[in-house]
Amino acid sequence: MKKRKDTVVAHAGNHPAENHGIVNPPVYHASTVLFPTLAALEGASKMGYDKVRYGRFGTPTTFAFEEAVAALEQGFGTVTYPSGLGAICSVLLALLKAGDHVLMADTAYFPTRRFCEGFLKRYGVRTTFYDPMLGARIAELIEPATRVVFVESPGSLTFEVQDVPAIADAAHRAGAVVVIDNTWSAGYFFQPLKHGVDISLQAATKFLVGHSDAMLGVATCADRATFEIVKGSACELGTCAGPDDCYLGLRGLRTLAARMDRHQATGLKLAAWLKGRPEVEAVYHPALPGNPGHEFWKRDFSGACGLFSFVLRPVEKTALAAMLDGLEVFGIGYSWGGYESLIVPAHPEASRSATRWPHAGPVLRIHAGLEDADDLIADLASGLKRLAGL
Ligand SMILES: *Cc1c(COP(=O)(O)O)cnc(C)c1O
Repeated sequence: MKKRKDTVVAHAGNHPAENHGIVNPPVYHASTVLFPTLAALEGASKMGYDKVRYGRFGTPTTFAFEEAVAALEQGFGTVTYPSGLGAICSVLLALLKAGDHVLMADTAYFPTRRFCEGFLKRYGVRTTFYDPMLGARIAELIEPATRVVFVESPGSLTFEVQDVPAIADAAHRAGAVVVIDNTWSAGYFFQPLKHGVDISLQAATKFLVGHSDAMLGVATCADRATFEIVKGSACELGTCAGPDDCYLGLRGLRTLAARMDRHQATGLKLAAWLKGRPEVEAVYHPALPGNPGHEFWKRDFSGACGLFSFVLRPVEKTALAAMLDGLEVFGIGYSWGGYESLIVPAHPEASRSATRWPHAGPVLRIHAGLEDADDLIADLASGLKRLAGL
């Protein structure tokens, strides 16, 4: 039977019959794996990546989580890392060598940008940052040395949705590999591998883990050849995730469908409310008409998570601090994707080189959690009163 997405999310990777009928896989804590004979030991080096041979290469707990994520992202195979950033850097190192060139979205997650400007530059890899809205015109920036075209859609902090199929098409014509940071959609609202992307990365720390209690990253590859490059490099770099964290990722995944629907509903409610407020100059949310790339979101995504940003009219820092410091439900902090709502100032103007951020006022990014939406609105409403000095 062909299973629909929510059924896949609930069951993929679980094999109770192989585990005494117990629903979830056990957490294997492992370094050494024993072999019964010399022949078995020598044969281990010829084993595929799905076999247990040494802790660093993965355990049945790792494989269960990877199987589930690969099913969610509809890819050939998934590789797990100890953080989202670990996944991004390890994949870039797997694909690139000195002399190569990377095209990186100007709106990429800041540490991704820093990795290009620091590490990759030192290792002789050049990066050109591109306007995320350029679509098929990315062809004009592709050079003979371009090996990776990296997209992040929607963009970090400002949520521009990219024309991923058009970019992937141009990249493939030039023989480049297309990598996406798919953390925002959780692989739940967007399946990039079905739209021409070769490798879909996620900070599983965010929605897959979903409870703000573990760091984890995943890279899902469209085909076997790409998977073998990515997995092989992860094994060589030693970037393996711990078993408890893989378990938390798998456990989080089981409730992903219910959580994402709620994040979506609350995020839309907050965004609509903020849009109607006189203190707010702009709201950036992919599902709102007028958001850059809204038409691509409508075409390619099946929904939106609760992460978006809004821009206040210019105010004094003390007023902004009064607004944020007095919040009772929202937490002030980094990361997102957990059950609890977060708000954090963002500074897109400080990390862009191919585009210009058009606002002068403070940018606030919201992660809409699983609390009562009306309580969140009431919290923001009293925050805006404090902002106005009332
Ligand atoms: C948080 C985040 C990452 C990094 O994930 P970590 O698990 O914190 O290392 C990567 N990309 C995006 C878009 C993120 O928001």
